[in-house]
Amino acid sequence: MMNSKTKRYNLSDSTIRLVEEEDQFDFLCEGFDSPRARMSCGHVVTPMSLTKWCEQLLKQGEARFVCGQSGCDAEWSYQEVCKMALLTPEEMKNFETTMALNAAARDPNTKFCPGCMTPVTRGSSSNLYVCCQLCSAKTGRSFGFCWQCLREWKGRQPRSDRCENDDCHNSALKTLRECPEVKIQLTEGVKGCPSVRACPTCGSLIQHTGIGCTEISCPRCKMSFCFGCLKSINDCLTDDIDICPNGIAPRQTSI
Ligand SMILES: [Zn+2]
Ligand SMILES: [Zn+2]
Ligand SMILES: [Zn+2]
Ligand SMILES: [Zn+2]
Ligand SMILES: [Zn+2]
Repeated sequence: MMNSKTKRYNLSDSTIRLVEEEDQFDFLCEGFDSPRARMSCGHVVTPMSLTKWCEQLLKQGEARFVCGQSGCDAEWSYQEVCKMALLTPEEMKNFETTMALNAAARDPNTKFCPGCMTPVTRGSSSNLYVCCQLCSAKTGRSFGFCWQCLREWKGRQPRSDRCENDDCHNSALKTLRECPEVKIQLTEGVKGCPSVRACPTCGSLIQHTGIGCTEISCPRCKMSFCFGCLKSINDCLTDDIDICPNGIAPRQTSI
């Protein structure tokens, strides 16, 4: 998916602190062929190991880059990551798109439009009708969706109680029952998964855009679970982060 050519530090770049130490982020012992360098927090990376670590963070839904070495919760700036991971223009584009999506998914004022799955911010907290500019431009008419049931808007608007989709008032269960399916890109064997799930711990509804893998962390209670099988992440995705061995749990009928 990303550039597979090994990236190496340029020995003559005096702004990079090169060291003669082990690559602390080479978790799979791939032995990346590059001089090692020290990050601002003191830990040691190569461009490839840092790229992989940051891709992993993005896949897990993070929008920030934390070191994560034991005892180190330093947060690196995106600038530092670009520089030290020698991100290519293509990688930067990917990183920036995913960072924006991940940040939106954590923002309670943002939901994903059911038409195009891009994040849309709610205009007014008293109006359930939310207009998606992108879908409106694409369809040539005003396209809006319901903030409550996350389906295309039906009926007059503005309204603060419900739209005219059946059962919009009983929004949570209805959404769980009728939300469209999503194809989760990075996890194999996950087809026909509902795009909205209730967090198994606290019950808040979480929408999956299909970007990334099935591991999702609840923005409210922070519990990490598998969007496919709804088990805690420790009971799934153990051997290989990209396979859910448990199968898709049926649509939830209670919260
Ligand atoms: Zn560190
Ligand atoms: Zn849209
Ligand atoms: Zn509705
Ligand atoms: Zn939760
Ligand atoms: Zn699973």
